[in-house]
Amino acid sequence: MSVDNLQNKTNQNVELKSKKYGFKNPEKAKEIWKKCLEIIKQNLNGLSFKTWFEPIEPVGFDKNELTIKLPNDFSWDYIEVNFNSLIKKALLETIGENAKLTYIFDTDSTSSNQITITENYYPINYNLNSISGSKINQYSKEINWNINRSQEEEYFETNLNEKFTFDNFIKGEGNQLARAAAIAVANQPGGTSFNPLFIYGGVGLGKTHLIQAIGNYIVKNKKAKRVLYTTAEKFTTEFVDSIRKGNTNEFTAFYRKVDTLIIDDIQFLSGKESTTDTFFHIFNSLYQFGKQIVLSCDKPPKSLSGIDERLISRFQWGLSVDIQPPDLETRIAILIKKSESFNLDIDLNIIEYIAANITTNIRELEGALIKLLAKASLEGKEITLDLAREIVKSVATEKRSTLTLDQIQTIVAEYFGINTDILRAKTKKKEFVQARQIAMYFCKKFTNASLKTIGLNFGGRDHTTVIHALQTVEEQLKDNSFAEMLSTIQKKIEYKT
Ligand code: ADP
Ligand code: MG
Repeated sequence: MSVDNLQNKTNQNVELKSKKYGFKNPEKAKEIWKKCLEIIKQNLNGLSFKTWFEPIEPVGFDKNELTIKLPNDFSWDYIEVNFNSLIKKALLETIGENAKLTYIFDTDSTSSNQITITENYYPINYNLNSISGSKINQYSKEINWNINRSQEEEYFETNLNEKFTFDNFIKGEGNQLARAAAIAVANQPGGTSFNPLFIYGGVGLGKTHLIQAIGNYIVKNKKAKRVLYTTAEKFTTEFVDSIRKGNTNEFTAFYRKVDTLIIDDIQFLSGKESTTDTFFHIFNSLYQFGKQIVLSCDKPPKSLSGIDERLISRFQWGLSVDIQPPDLETRIAILIKKSESFNLDIDLNIIEYIAANITTNIRELEGALIKLLAKASLEGKEITLDLAREIVKSVATEKRSTLTLDQIQTIVAEYFGINTDILRAKTKKKEFVQARQIAMYFCKKFTNASLKTIGLNFGGRDHTTVIHALQTVEEQLKDNSFAEMLSTIQKKIEYKT
């Protein structure tokens, strides 16, 4: 994150903080939400209604703005993609043209039921405006705000996702050592011999979860002041950007001020000489002052190529520890924990079947469970062993169904070096139009969202615009360099799954 952004984030935060104190008119909210539910119920099958809408709690109503609380962030993703227009219709009919909706959800609904909405939540504003008959929807999300931090403290954007904690990281044979080292480091950042802590292993085994858990623990328990999580890719992009803007000194100074630096997927630095060089200096400076460095990588340090030997040897100064694929017991435990977080009571046979058949990757394991739930609720089916078989089969062939439109937009926007807002904006500038069309193309390719939903998520565009985008991209694919670009973006998207 750039230094300039800090101030904006701070302002945003102050604004959000003022929102937290109490919700107005809870009774009115209940009444309005009840009416909305009646409309929604008429348009949905029973199981979908039960799964997605019954757990929602109305919490407040103020000046046309209804605030509802969702059980977890997954619900938000799912509802946004699948029931967006239905909710909109219900709100417009119940509240009227100026209806606004704010979603909130617990950031950690899995680990304890003590967490209440006033402790920890992400507010998401979702405005419905009506302009001369055509409905435009805008929303801002992913505003990450940790209210446990005391107000006097200087605000520091950590980039951490609060959902990754030690509490919901299941211990197993494959991750035991890495987990123990992570906990030790989190308790004494910079104070153990595990500096840097270098965690490596294959895709979807929990590296990101574990290193983010370190950061979250440090922040929550105030073990260090400035904790920063970033990816090597983001670090590189920011560095290149700082060269362009001529403020590399500020870039370096910013990183040198960090107390715990957590960098994900460090293998990305391979072959990027000047970025690596800058990182080398930052590393030395932090190390010298006893600041904690945590790194994740897809391979052990000695197998890294295209990175300065001096840096590789520094990676080995502390502790390098690997994460191995989970054994059956761990896989079962993860599935049980995850289904509990969705308030699901799935038959143990079914859980065991999934755990026995999806063996190498925890992300896929979770993906299968989510798919099972989604399929059962959308098609109004029971969760049975047969359905689980069907899902397991399809997970093997298409691993991408858990992506959200938002994630795809972010990846495409990052590739083009633009803000995701531009993808949803009205601008007709040529390069923006191309980025938008490519993003739409991948949304169709990698999700089950309808053309209509995709259009809505690109600044309320019509489904015919989406069709046009798909046709344009397919036409351009005949050009080799365009096809190559698309394949690069596609790899980035697949990497995320
Ligand atoms: P990696 O960074 O190694 O590719 P992630 O950390 O992104 O993998 O993990 C993939 C998914 O699996 C995440 O949703 C994560 O929360 C989950 N996960 C991984 N390991 C565990 C674990 N031991 N317990 C619970 N969830 C896990
Ligand atoms: Mg990762």
